[in-house]
Amino acid sequence: MKKLSKQLGKRLFLRNLIFTHRSISRPELIRLCGLNARSVDRYTHELKALGLIRSTQVQGSRGRPATAYTSNSENCLFVGAVIDSWQLLTTVLDINGKPMFCQAIPCPRRQSLANLETDIIVSIERATQQSGQQVPYAICLGLPTHLDQPQTRARLLQALRNRYRTQVECLSTDTLITHEALAHTWLNGRIASIIFSSAFIIFDNGLHVTQYDKRLQALWHRRTPEGLGLNLACSCGKRGCLQAELSGEALIERYRQLAGATPGNTLLAAGKNINLEAKLGNQNAINTIRAQAEVYGYLASQLHAELPVDYIIMIQSSHFNNAAYAQFAREAFARWSGVSPHQFRPYAYSWADMAFAASQYARRNFAW
Ligand SMILES: [Zn+2]
Repeated sequence: MKKLSKQLGKRLFLRNLIFTHRSISRPELIRLCGLNARSVDRYTHELKALGLIRSTQVQGSRGRPATAYTSNSENCLFVGAVIDSWQLLTTVLDINGKPMFCQAIPCPRRQSLANLETDIIVSIERATQQSGQQVPYAICLGLPTHLDQPQTRARLLQALRNRYRTQVECLSTDTLITHEALAHTWLNGRIASIIFSSAFIIFDNGLHVTQYDKRLQALWHRRTPEGLGLNLACSCGKRGCLQAELSGEALIERYRQLAGATPGNTLLAAGKNINLEAKLGNQNAINTIRAQAEVYGYLASQLHAELPVDYIIMIQSSHFNNAAYAQFAREAFARWSGVSPHQFRPYAYSWADMAFAASQYARRNFAW
């Protein structure tokens, strides 16, 4: 997270006071904020010019006219745009976090950066127009691993800043979903999140410190303990790596070995079916989940040993996550690491949540 400039910080602080009071008189605002009258006038003038607050004349004490400030929350839009493998999701929130608009448009995986830039801007234009033809107050763009390169980020950020002259941030979708998990779990301290068989993200007291740590990536390719894995082939060329054993394909293979049947035609359908069967008490499905969760708990314990972290968050797509999986993984983590299961927190997301995670990020980061 970028540090706000001192000036912007004061402006946001004043706006926050006005927003939380809905309507506040000038003398009261001066008393509450601890800034001098000249500063207050300067910042309220700026906020008025931006259309974020309104001022009216009211009857003050002893009948003298006084100025009152009210929030103009309709004018404050937070836009989140997230690209996944196939689509571009855009959402708009108002200052109170109320969703104003959301849309998903197709976004081919392989296309030029110029086309992508156009798609993003067109999508944001449409989203803000649908929400009342206003300019966004802050924008957060989420990029998946295959697009998350420094040059791509820089180019898209520049394009959006030039167009909207506003606050824009660009994050990886892995980081975004970890932000969302942190906002939901209220955890503080040093936190590592494990993103479904692909990445580790490290946060330190709310600050994002590590994106893709090469040293940690080797953890995925450690061998699964004897007797726990299926000895599956990994993308790295070895067999029995933690990454291969924790994939969606591995979950389905386990079920096939136990039940003698494939639970669905596609990866997603099969993953969903196993979770559904487990909820209905199918013992093969429960054992499948328990066996993979044991490997997950082992990986989490290795990560915990590698880094002095206070909490580990397990982040999984809702297709492959259910309460039983989380509970088994938590127990396994406690057993393998010897620390409290409370240091392990599960968090499930679906792709539809991702765009909201982005607009929420923009709102949390820039509104207050
Ligand atoms: Zn491997």
